[in-house]
Amino acid sequence: MGKARETRSRGEITVNLSLERPTGNFWMDMGLVVLINEFGQGEYPVDEILDWLLEKLVQESEQGKTWIYPANLFIKVTGNLKLNLKLSKKPGICDICGDISLLTGAKMWMFPFVVDPDKFANFYSGMRRGLRLCARCALAGVAGYLGWIWKRHGDVFHFFVFNTELRELNRLYREVIKPVQEARRNDRGSNFNFAFFGNYIHETTLGLLLELFKEIKKPDKISQEASRFLEELLGAKGAKPQHIILYSITGESGRAFKMHALQEFSELQSLYRLYETWYNTIKNKFENETRPFERIKQVFEQFVIRRNNDYDTLYRDKIAKAILEFGNPLPFIEQFLFESDQPLLKGTLEILEKYIEEVLNMNERIREDLARFGKILGIKSAEKNEMGLLYSLRNARNTTDFYRVLNDVQFRLQLTVPESLLAIEEGENISGMKWNLLKSLLCIHAMNSFLIRNKVDEKSES
Ligand SMILES: [Zn+2]
Repeated sequence: MGKARETRSRGEITVNLSLERPTGNFWMDMGLVVLINEFGQGEYPVDEILDWLLEKLVQESEQGKTWIYPANLFIKVTGNLKLNLKLSKKPGICDICGDISLLTGAKMWMFPFVVDPDKFANFYSGMRRGLRLCARCALAGVAGYLGWIWKRHGDVFHFFVFNTELRELNRLYREVIKPVQEARRNDRGSNFNFAFFGNYIHETTLGLLLELFKEIKKPDKISQEASRFLEELLGAKGAKPQHIILYSITGESGRAFKMHALQEFSELQSLYRLYETWYNTIKNKFENETRPFERIKQVFEQFVIRRNNDYDTLYRDKIAKAILEFGNPLPFIEQFLFESDQPLLKGTLEILEKYIEEVLNMNERIREDLARFGKILGIKSAEKNEMGLLYSLRNARNTTDFYRVLNDVQFRLQLTVPESLLAIEEGENISGMKWNLLKSLLCIHAMNSFLIRNKVDEKSES
């Protein structure tokens, strides 16, 4: 906890900072924790907190005093940079925490995300109607800028705010977020580390989470103790596991911030458990693998298409979205393979297999059948110049198409289709799975081995 400060004089308006009293809003809660870190829990004069906030958020520059980047994208007070709460004379109910207290009018340019994320659609209109905040929420709202994690990428600006029970959030800020932020104090691109990032919200969110997961397995940017805490929090291993949510916001940073998306990720603990299975799989499969994290990172990083002088990361974002939501990433990996014309990096299929097993519940027999049959299908297609078969497989739109392609495969490549693929059931299911799931996975295995085979041929020819 920060240093406890003495209340200077009686009669001043004070606020009570306590870890027992969350505000109910993720942005304000983050700010509250920032304040408690600095001041400690207790009763503090509003002016003292305001002075400290100004000291942190205002810098001297060639243009005189300015708000620090990137808070300046949001806070639009110019000229004499002062924060004045202008509290009402009579008490009323705070729109955020429900306290009966003296109130101030919330301004969108100062207190972003004061509304419930569910009401995101009404974000601006809600603000126009005019929210009223107590001094505690108003100060916490300004302090929120100091607790966010942000990443700038060209004109795109992402930021991230965690939310959980206040005591846990306080530790998360103090032991994990703040030390990393301080180490990157002078960086204009970001105040945190990302395994990878791009224009889109899901890929960048996954990039942030992978970096945090790495710190659990092998602390680098944070202390051993912080790493153990993070493992308890994300691994839900504590005596009383707390729910944790990550809010990701993406927009454009011009002269002001224009929001494009706000997403709430609440399955972080399940995601960490999944990551652990990947980590162990990679460690067991590749004996010399000393840093499984690097391989997992590269596997997700690879889904980028180079166009002219630019990199298109849309596939990566779609795959990241599927993973973060425990959905189906296979169609995007399938499309990516056909477009990139490069085989998948070593480790990708292992990670994918684990995902399909854990999340999509595909049984081992059918997974093995698809891997074996797909591999030979790719090799034979390469040998006999039957790339068209792979295109037909990719383009299959229903089970009739699918079986027509399999029939062609049997006929033209003299291959026997595994029985598990022939067990068609009601509702276009095959062996208990949605047919297109099997089709995509088969296609990924086939196209991947086709591309590997072609690469080998290219090498031997040159
Ligand atoms: Zn309040």
